[in-house]
Amino acid sequence: MNIMQCTLCKKPFQPLVGKVCNECLRKLDEDFILVRDYIYENKRADIDKVAEDTGVSKQAILHLLKEGRLIIDDIAGVGSILLCEVCKKPIKTGRMCEDCKKNVAFSMQKNIEGSKQPESQKKNEPLGRGTAKVKNS
Ligand SMILES: [Zn+2]
Ligand SMILES: [Zn+2]
Repeated sequence: MNIMQCTLCKKPFQPLVGKVCNECLRKLDEDFILVRDYIYENKRADIDKVAEDTGVSKQAILHLLKEGRLIIDDIAGVGSILLCEVCKKPIKTGRMCEDCKKNVAFSMQKNIEGSKQPESQKKNEPLGRGTAKVKNS
């Protein structure tokens, strides 16, 4: 059995989706609405103020940002809190900056193409002549 520590409440749990336990996931949905509504009304609030006024932990807010559910443009003055996991550049949402996302996509594509190449040189051979289904009459 696979047991992980919830990134938010640090309780051990069996991961089904992501790194957060069910309890916290349910709470995150509520937190998300609280934070989103709060930011909508208080566009200049920074993350400390948001956390203080909504009662949502900063960690939960960061988690929502990393999931891409919240965007940092929505919160003032948090530019340096969320960093690209590859180049450590401040980003607005998610886990990687646009450049690194592109690089990852590019190198993945290259890998796929690279591993495919010898195979794809073969021209379309007539499909399995010997193994074609033959009606047994
Ligand atoms: Zn939890
Ligand atoms: Zn980056």
